[in-house]
Amino acid sequence: MRLVDRVAVVTGGASGIGLATVGRLVEEGARVVIADLDGDRAVRVAADFGTSVIGVACDVTRAEDCRAAVATAVERFGKLDLMHANAGTPFTGPVEEVDQATLDRVVDVNLKGAFWTAQAAVPALIEAGGGSIVFTASLQAVIARPRYSPYTAAKHGVIGLMKGLALELAPHGIRVNAIAPAATETPMLSAFLGGMGDVPDSARQNFRESIPLGRMATPRDSADAVVYLASDEARMVTGHTLVLDGGTTAG
Ligand code: NAD
Repeated sequence: MRLVDRVAVVTGGASGIGLATVGRLVEEGARVVIADLDGDRAVRVAADFGTSVIGVACDVTRAEDCRAAVATAVERFGKLDLMHANAGTPFTGPVEEVDQATLDRVVDVNLKGAFWTAQAAVPALIEAGGGSIVFTASLQAVIARPRYSPYTAAKHGVIGLMKGLALELAPHGIRVNAIAPAATETPMLSAFLGGMGDVPDSARQNFRESIPLGRMATPRDSADAVVYLASDEARMVTGHTLVLDGGTTAG
């Protein structure tokens, strides 16, 4: 119970890494607003947690939606302590095939959406006397792989955003960090692998072989990292990227 009485907003919290994080935050005593593009699903999954969790529709590309999600947290739970800027969208494909609408969408959701989400949280975090922002970046915010350039560029941008905000917000007692997970078993994974539906065993095998610990990441790996970064145990940690890659970048 490391987060008793804390209040969090998790964007993209209706699925995958975000949903696992909501579960861990609740286990640690927090109350949570799930802010997701799929508002119906956000409401549905929130109901599974009882009164500790509220689901709202939110498109992180719209600054006003992000502000509304924070307002819901303050109105319903009294304050904001943690913003988990987690919503993202995948892209895989050769650079020649990237059209303007695709690049705009990937940057709008992954980078500009992270900006609007963090910006919306700042007044409430200052009002609370400090707190924490955690971005879900990606291993591709730290290293690159071929055929992901819009996504890789946007996620590298998230790390720059995180560092800038860590410096700017430190005087307010607001810590700002990022997690950088390797390939993770979520609905997004099949989209990354080219929208093939179920991820084929051969693709899984390729990922596993590229990771020294010999397995892909799980949503729980990310959720535990967010809990740590949000907790008082990380009180001296800000401006940091916590890489969850099973040793990949050590090589
Ligand atoms: P997921 O598809 O399971 O969940 C993503 C959630 O984000 C969905 O509920 C979706 O409705 C929501 N969303 C999408 N666009 C949104 C928007 N504009 N506004 C608000 N919500 C929106 O995917 P996931 O794998 O859990 O992804 C979560 C984060 O983790 C993303 O930022 C992703 O880039 C990152 N990530 C994923 C992997 C992976 O392999 N799955 C690896 C590293 C990083």
